[in-house]
Amino acid sequence: MRRQPDSPVQPDRSLLLAGVTLADGTRADVAVEGTRIAAVAPPGTAPPAGERFELDGYLLLPAPAEPHAHLDKAFTAGQVPNHTGDLDGAADAWLGYRPTVSHADLVHRATGAALAQLGSGATAIRTHVEIGTDIGLSSLDALLEVRRALRSRVDLQLVAMPRSPLTGPDGGDNRALLREAMLAGADVVGGCPYRDPDPAAAHEVCLDLAAELGRPLDLHTDETLDPEVLWLPHLAGLVRARGFTNGVAASHCVSLGVQPSDVAARIAAEVAAAGIAVICCPLTNLFLQARRLTAPPRGLTALHALLAAGAEIAGGGDNLRDPFNPVGRADPLEVASLLVLAGHLDPRRAFQAVSAGARAVMGLPEVRVAPGFPAELLAIRAESIEEAVASASPERVVIHRGRPVSRTTLAREMWPGSEAPSPWPRT
Ligand SMILES: [Zn+2]
Repeated sequence: MRRQPDSPVQPDRSLLLAGVTLADGTRADVAVEGTRIAAVAPPGTAPPAGERFELDGYLLLPAPAEPHAHLDKAFTAGQVPNHTGDLDGAADAWLGYRPTVSHADLVHRATGAALAQLGSGATAIRTHVEIGTDIGLSSLDALLEVRRALRSRVDLQLVAMPRSPLTGPDGGDNRALLREAMLAGADVVGGCPYRDPDPAAAHEVCLDLAAELGRPLDLHTDETLDPEVLWLPHLAGLVRARGFTNGVAASHCVSLGVQPSDVAARIAAEVAAAGIAVICCPLTNLFLQARRLTAPPRGLTALHALLAAGAEIAGGGDNLRDPFNPVGRADPLEVASLLVLAGHLDPRRAFQAVSAGARAVMGLPEVRVAPGFPAELLAIRAESIEEAVASASPERVVIHRGRPVSRTTLAREMWPGSEAPSPWPRT
């Protein structure tokens, strides 16, 4: 048993996850004390605990995390049709709709989306929150309320996402709003500098503010198949030149995925050297990109070049049933499955992208199913990571800060016949 000196054990805060399967296939009892894993012992050998879960048939994994969400837009696909199906159609539709969104509606939808993610296992969520002269900080106010209401159940990071421009005289109001949002409680500086009239200067505006306030940076780096729109090397150079160490995430990076392999490899090396993590968002980019092509590229970033260069990668769910993406199950395992199919990662690496990679991007401590690590855990009915990614069984127990926060069970009945076979047959 190993205990952290900063987390004193309270008898009523102990939890036993009995009979779980570990990622290497062995069975174990996992004891949790306070907010951390206290012991991983052979089945039946762990001491009694204040609370006990029988988890035969469940695989115990580090909890996933959602590194790139848009909770402020979630569940609006029905009200906000995207008539062209592409990014411009989504953006036009959304910008026309967003001033009409009420505080209560936004709180309701964002809470529902966050809890859906949590039920899937994501105990930490980073969401971008739009700010602008048309809506002021109203979306941020709603998300701050959601964060307060859910603070004991899920860690919510808020990225302030301003409109363009951020540069020149026309960008003054947006720059002021971005600063105001950070001072009002946003955690991370965001933005879409590639859409600015002066992208290079817009990168500097965002990085300078993050540096001044001591906050991380998370940019929508680009969402275009145009190979000429390539600002990732500029960001990497800027981060290295400034010695910025608060954490940088580059989201989407679609353009990197259509570069010649030697160019992608060179840029990936610059990204890795700058310590920039890249978040790939397969749902939204598969939906929005390459609509008019008969043999469409997949719209994902250059995952294998980034991995070969040693860069951190993560997988994000991005949009959830809104004009940018009409589908989605708020499940990191759905993202992992798409990283297998569309990104050609193997299932274990794909799970790593939505768990360890996602937590690293978000600046959260590492989780392993081992003594001393934070008890941020997902138990899912499966025998292996491969099966968990493939079946994405809804039968899950989610542990956050050492406490169970969600359990989903499944009942399936089949006729005729008196016995229902397991819906997740062993292979
Ligand atoms: Zn996004």
